[in-house]
Amino acid sequence: MTGQATIDNITEQVLLGDEAVALGAVHAGISAAYAYPGTPSTEILQFLLNRAELEGGPKATWCANEKTAYEEALGVSMAGKRVLVAMKHVGLNVAADPFINSGVVWTGGGLVLAVADDPGMHSSQNEQDSRWMADFAHIPCLEPTNQQQAYDMTREAFEISERYRIPVMIRLVTRLAHSRARIETREPMTERPLDPDRKHGDWILLPAFARRHWHERLNQHTEIKAASEDSPFNTLEINPEHTEYGVITCGIAGNYFLENMAELDFVPSRLQIGSYPMPMDKIRELAEAVDHLLVIEEGYPYVERLVRGVLPTSITVLGKQSGHLPPDGELTPDSVRWASGLPERHGLEGPKIPVVPRPPRLCAGCPHCDAYTALNKALSGFEHDLVTSDIGCYTLGLLPPYSIGESCVCMGASIGMAKGASDAGVYPAVAVIGDSTFLHSGITPLMDAIAANSDMTVLILDNEAVAMTGAQPTLYTSSRIENVVLGLGAAPEHCHVVEAHPKKTDQLADLMRREVEYRGLSVIITVRECLESVRKKKNV
Ligand code: SF4
Repeated sequence: MTGQATIDNITEQVLLGDEAVALGAVHAGISAAYAYPGTPSTEILQFLLNRAELEGGPKATWCANEKTAYEEALGVSMAGKRVLVAMKHVGLNVAADPFINSGVVWTGGGLVLAVADDPGMHSSQNEQDSRWMADFAHIPCLEPTNQQQAYDMTREAFEISERYRIPVMIRLVTRLAHSRARIETREPMTERPLDPDRKHGDWILLPAFARRHWHERLNQHTEIKAASEDSPFNTLEINPEHTEYGVITCGIAGNYFLENMAELDFVPSRLQIGSYPMPMDKIRELAEAVDHLLVIEEGYPYVERLVRGVLPTSITVLGKQSGHLPPDGELTPDSVRWASGLPERHGLEGPKIPVVPRPPRLCAGCPHCDAYTALNKALSGFEHDLVTSDIGCYTLGLLPPYSIGESCVCMGASIGMAKGASDAGVYPAVAVIGDSTFLHSGITPLMDAIAANSDMTVLILDNEAVAMTGAQPTLYTSSRIENVVLGLGAAPEHCHVVEAHPKKTDQLADLMRREVEYRGLSVIITVRECLESVRKKKNV
């Protein structure tokens, strides 16, 4: 309505890094956005869902997994519209097939992938650095230093995507994704007409087409590298007065260096990298101006490794690989001090308040507690039982007081691993997986297990929510999950749906015991809604 303030016409806002990406995408004119929840990227789509509710668009959708999210985004781009797809770093492994192949097709509408890495593993299985994935796929990558850049770079990413008809990655890290700052927004971007060079075959990767696309892409890569070299997000400042050392900082790591700069004896020459492929000419210019280089980057030593291979051996390159910066965990303003020649500092001294350690545990009254109590009873007396677990709130069952399960590797792995263990002679083998994780990546390994009638039991702990990331809705309701399992071919007499309830744990334990003793494939779906999800729906 005219005259009313909308999200769009507020020019200054305080936003999370995730939200800045989402708003940048809205102002870039996206038609749709797709994601699977995963910390620290969840808030990107959540922001768009909230906005869609208030403003009526763009379309924002939670998907079955990151692969389907990416593929749906490809479809929007093929239709000539702009689209954002968001995921966490390990989600990109799931989407790797369409992601890597999308570097070989010629996209239509701008396609931007926002990936949030999690150095320090606050909520993840590993620290993998998505810049390697962008490099592997020959896809340009932008890495913001702050929330303003997260907004600006997202808009720029759509420009690059449409200019070169290639997807573009925005790489965030937890600290930026989950911290707020003031940003200034700009006028929404106008729509760009579809590229007149579009032709039949642009999206076809049959070998004859794929070879041609790949050859053309490699030729185009020279142009993309040159544009990245000149990107305003790669800034070089040379201090000719001091040649002792120069610094390369990447993304948010630039802030950590700047926080300490006032204490340095001089301002060293510095290259801030925000756009990849790496600006090699600027790196060489910096290397020529100094005696050695310090590379400060969040994640893996990506830039450090690559510059080592191209600079003369007379230049010493310091960073994570050389041991001058911690090789794992998140960087902090303190952890980069020693490498910058400053005395170590270990945070600010605060008042000594005794804090009682509070290990993570399932909420009191969580439905998973009942399922685990029953499973422990069902397996008592077996000497060599093996329980494989998966990724969700129920992973906390690995810890006391339940201490049940011996693995947690990646989404959906519980079922495949239990099948493998059963194939290797382990009995009883039990897989524990949540409803959302089952729909994300558990269906295909269950097909393997059903086809082989593997001697194992699958427990699907259905809490009717993607609880761990904030109780987002599961794609399918409980009633449909049983149909999926039966549709895959599970024997109806060995497929059960039961309530997870404190008063019914003995009954549930008896059922689990019976199915564990059955020497074939069985599935038990325990159902009760997550308490957080109930609270969220009641808005309390
Ligand atoms: S958030 Fe829900 S599923 Fe997770 S522990 Fe709490 S009650 Fe259980």
